[in-house]
Amino acid sequence: MTLDVVQQLKLLQHIYSESTIWDEELRASRHNVPEDVSAEQLQALEATGHEPNHFERPQHEETIRELRTLAERWTLQEAAQAFVASLWSAPMIWRSLLTGKLIATSIPDHEYDPYSSSHKCQICGLDVNDGVDTSLQWYWRITNGTPLDGDIFGHVLALREMAASQELPVPCEYDRWTLRAVLTVLRNLPPKTRYSKAADALKKEQLLPTKKVYVYRDLLETLALIGILETPEQPGMITAFTSYAERDKRPNTRVEVQAPLAWWDSSVGINEHNLNLIFGEFDCSDVSLENKPEPKPLASETVIGAFESRRGVGTKAKVPKKSPDAGTGEVQPGDVYAVKVLSGSWVTVYCHEVKDKRTIVEYLDGVFPDMPGKEDLILTVRPRPDERWQCSAIGIDSTSWVRRVARDMPAPNASQPKPESVPFHAAKDLRHMASWCFPDL
Ligand SMILES: [Zn+2]
Repeated sequence: MTLDVVQQLKLLQHIYSESTIWDEELRASRHNVPEDVSAEQLQALEATGHEPNHFERPQHEETIRELRTLAERWTLQEAAQAFVASLWSAPMIWRSLLTGKLIATSIPDHEYDPYSSSHKCQICGLDVNDGVDTSLQWYWRITNGTPLDGDIFGHVLALREMAASQELPVPCEYDRWTLRAVLTVLRNLPPKTRYSKAADALKKEQLLPTKKVYVYRDLLETLALIGILETPEQPGMITAFTSYAERDKRPNTRVEVQAPLAWWDSSVGINEHNLNLIFGEFDCSDVSLENKPEPKPLASETVIGAFESRRGVGTKAKVPKKSPDAGTGEVQPGDVYAVKVLSGSWVTVYCHEVKDKRTIVEYLDGVFPDMPGKEDLILTVRPRPDERWQCSAIGIDSTSWVRRVARDMPAPNASQPKPESVPFHAAKDLRHMASWCFPDL
């Protein structure tokens, strides 16, 4: 089983929505992995380097050194290019390259200087005591935005991911338009508009391929951290490095964000000088928001757009109602069962024979977004790429996500002979084995 980025994110979303338990030894909160996540799914996540509950405990000197070394791979211009691409077409993790680059080049050499009440360094904000789940960090980089508030270990993890990627994303026409549109909205806000209303204004124009307002707010915090939305007293990183303790001073306790954004409003405006320093190669003039071009790629074709629109996996609360054609009693030949697999996709199996509480089943053609009804069924067998495949399944009537949807159906069409061997499996394995016959699942 291999998982694409969106499938990895959906699976992690399912796992990370579960409760956590505090692990004293790791000094970290572990997420309980829900029962409906299979060993194969976990292995597939592990193969991508994104298995849940994968902890690292960053050390102070090493983290700063690694951040600087990683950031040297790219120029400021390349980081700006990745940033613009990340506004729409490229995965959002690329936005962290610019913040990482600016922090790495401005952070001073310093001794670890923790607050008296915690293990967090007052200069760089690194918490050296607690375990960090690197997969959860990756999940946030793609679904939320840059590591706030300038978290240096979060940036190390993001830069490691990007360093492993061979190619820097190139901004497309629509990415470039999006940069100008974001700046246009910010330049034309009513006087004294604060960050919360500014995020709403960006969301109203649907300038990012997300429906989540916190992603827009993260973008504002990022623009502030780099120095596009700074104030004379609270500079961003392109102007000067400010310590974590300095950034953490806020006008009042209700302000959720750090400086510079905490102190910024629309009357301060955009720092056009810094904008030119970072994005000098791009046209940053205003656009007409009324004449918005057609997004290309479509929002649904971006990683975040696809992630938000695709249905979740294993949503326990939404077990579908019994099929009207399910009938009653135990499995018998001629029954068709629907099997829910990853990403809210359903496939079906035909029951050829029942013997000693075991059912010889075979996948049928068709992948369905919801549990299919009798009228949706396609009575043609679905072979593996080389030959037909059947198994002898136990427990088909007592397995979650395996539901009978029709009875007394005629034998399915097949163009190849029956397989010679029929292995035994638990019916729950029908979920992950589906990928053998449906390679695109
Ligand atoms: Zn420090």
